[in-house]
Amino acid sequence: MAEYAKPLPRQEEPELTQPFWDAAKRHELLMPRCSFCNKFFWYPRAACPDCLRESWEWTPVSGRARLHTFTLVYQAAHPAFQDDVPYAFAVVQLEEGPRMMSNVVDCDVANVKVDMPLMVKFDDVTDDWTLVKFRPA
Ligand SMILES: [Zn+2]
Repeated sequence: MAEYAKPLPRQEEPELTQPFWDAAKRHELLMPRCSFCNKFFWYPRAACPDCLRESWEWTPVSGRARLHTFTLVYQAAHPAFQDDVPYAFAVVQLEEGPRMMSNVVDCDVANVKVDMPLMVKFDDVTDDWTLVKFRPA
């Protein structure tokens, strides 16, 4: 694999978030799901944001989503992303409910539209890291 020169995720709480990244490596998307009220939520945290119970588990989701909102980035915030501009920095809403930040890839940015259907795309950027992105469905 060619050397990947862009910044990689820095986990603030690896013990909490590692299962997400391990699943991404397997090309599987997991979300925290409350064991009590059954709602999915994002980001991972100690307690369900809806009912505040501290019982949840990582649960597979479909990978289907819609574009909630986005911005097109023309000035890279980090020099390593300069070759990617313009790119779509997005908030996607998963079919199961949670919204997460990601990128919309594999399409001309001129075609990126709010509410467009999306599908998860796993980007294996290094041997250790697979990033979760979305492409038009
Ligand atoms: Zn709950």
